[in-house]
Amino acid sequence: MHTLFLALCIALCGVSCSREPALESKRTILKFGTLIDVTLYDVEPLLAEEALDQIEANFAQYHADWTSWEDSPLTRINQKLASGQPAQVPASILPLIQRSQMLSQSSHGLFNPGINQLISLWQIHRSDDPDIQPPEHQAILEWLRTKPTMDDLQLDGTQLSSRNPAMQFNFGAFAKGYAIDLCFDYLDGLGINNAVINAGGDLSVRGQHGDRPWKIGIRHPREDGTIAWLEAQDQESIFTSGDYERFYEYKGQRYHHILDPRTGYPAKGSTSVTVIHHNAGTADAAATALFVAGPEQWQEIAQAMGIKYVMLIDTSGIIHMTSKMAQRIHFNQDQSGNIMISKSL
Ligand code: ADP
Ligand code: MG
Repeated sequence: MHTLFLALCIALCGVSCSREPALESKRTILKFGTLIDVTLYDVEPLLAEEALDQIEANFAQYHADWTSWEDSPLTRINQKLASGQPAQVPASILPLIQRSQMLSQSSHGLFNPGINQLISLWQIHRSDDPDIQPPEHQAILEWLRTKPTMDDLQLDGTQLSSRNPAMQFNFGAFAKGYAIDLCFDYLDGLGINNAVINAGGDLSVRGQHGDRPWKIGIRHPREDGTIAWLEAQDQESIFTSGDYERFYEYKGQRYHHILDPRTGYPAKGSTSVTVIHHNAGTADAAATALFVAGPEQWQEIAQAMGIKYVMLIDTSGIIHMTSKMAQRIHFNQDQSGNIMISKSL
């Protein structure tokens, strides 16, 4: 009896005490309009503090360099291009332009970081203002005639010129993801291999988290709380774009912050898109592009962008998924009558 009890204790311990609980070092940073939680695991405390200080400083720098709303190196480039002059691109912005240009091309222009003028017309950042109104249709038509795309740009070394003065940068759909990639590059350099960065529900992970996987809840686009959850694996980024994040209502109509560059209006058809990819910048841009693509076109754009894991919830509540995503996602309630699984991408 006694021996059996002891054996049982050892067996239980084999399951539950096989690892020391991971040593956690955490920092919350407010940048890019969101709370960013950075957690490092199993890092010696002094090194962890140093790394977190540097990551906090990096996020502050990226925010200052890449904002389109305040005076910044990016707005200075925008001013030059608007006046038809070439701009010298600092090293802090060059890769952002190059990477987002490729992503814009592979998204067939649905992710278009050259639409800052359109974003300014919609004023979604003022969505708390009770007097806010959508722009005149005429203003949208005028913008549409200018058709700014990343193909208007020509980069010669660090000198950037644009044949279209309406091409104005806004990296709101990409900067957060790209910033996270840069932070992981920095952590790699320090030999820190177990970390998670959660930027307001957009999550990137490296390595292990003790014995527990990292779980991320996917917000229900029309109800409080979550609709589903996922386990993030090593080297994965899970990004969601939703029409509930920033929007205003005017005469019963919702105007949200994800714009369709083809129409000049907030994209129709989707309420939420979640993607998983190994690169956070790609995941961020793709979530936005697939949101714009909507229920009819998302598969074509996902294929063009090389995205294998997609969940798109459309405006009638139907959940569209790749079969790979269907194998990973767990719904809080039975959704079996409500799901459309795409052919393998
Ligand atoms: P969030 O930043 O809320 O996670 P997204 O990643 O989808 O959401 O980015 C949306 C932001 O990107 C908008 O607020 C706007 O600044 C910009 N944006 C909107 N539509 C597009 C688009 N089609 N392509 C590129 N950027 C866009
Ligand atoms: Mg995005």
